[in-house]
Amino acid sequence: MIRVEDVRKRFPGTASATLDGVSFTLETGQLAAILGPSGSGKSTLLRCIVGLERLDSGSIHLGGQAGLVFQSFELFPHLTALGNCTLAQRLVAKRSREEAEARARQLLVELGLGQRLDAYPEMLSGGQRQRVAIARALAMEPAVLLYDEPTSALDPSLRREVMEALRRVGSLGMTQLVVTHDVQLARAAEHVMVLDHGHLVEQGPPAQVLDSPRHEATRRLLAQVH
Ligand code: ADP
Ligand code: MG
Repeated sequence: MIRVEDVRKRFPGTASATLDGVSFTLETGQLAAILGPSGSGKSTLLRCIVGLERLDSGSIHLGGQAGLVFQSFELFPHLTALGNCTLAQRLVAKRSREEAEARARQLLVELGLGQRLDAYPEMLSGGQRQRVAIARALAMEPAVLLYDEPTSALDPSLRREVMEALRRVGSLGMTQLVVTHDVQLARAAEHVMVLDHGHLVEQGPPAQVLDSPRHEATRRLLAQVH
């Protein structure tokens, strides 16, 4: 279970707090989505969960490390798909080459990339690169996998591919939190949260939040994307 409690974060020199008392809980294996306008604090929240930003107050309990998948994938261009998924396992987790490669291969196969193990990032489609980035994060066995707008660099035809990947990762029992502007992707989640000016203004199952939004900020957001 992931527990985020009353998290506050204000950057020096900014007029107001970027995160102003954010609290939520995710059950193990749950896929949750965060929607929110640009500048609402979504990326900052993910960076706080990963430990890239210090909290001013509040607490975050993960029961392990968080893995972050970036919008632009950030793959190592000089390494193959397999190499991308073994580097941190060897350098950070200190696993043997055999163990790291076996785990990487298994995850890449799981994500439908069994034929692309030796391909370099430039040879892969956007959706395939995204899946390599997901496999690389999963290889470190995080307690939760965080995605920052995983489909926004992809054209619509590739979004389905990423959604399918999230479903597969969910079927492995991984807890996942996705920041997205993609309402279709949010609809695939089990829990949807709306962040506005550093406040979680609304959360619940997608049918409630997306079809019967209670908060003005949610309505504004849905009106924009439809
Ligand atoms: P989102 O991902 O929802 O678009 P961000 O979390 O990136 O929003 O940023 C929210 C706000 O936090 C920004 O508008 C900015 O004011 C502030 N902010 C984020 N990162 C920094 C930083 N490193 N230094 C100063 N202000 C920041
Ligand atoms: Mg952002």
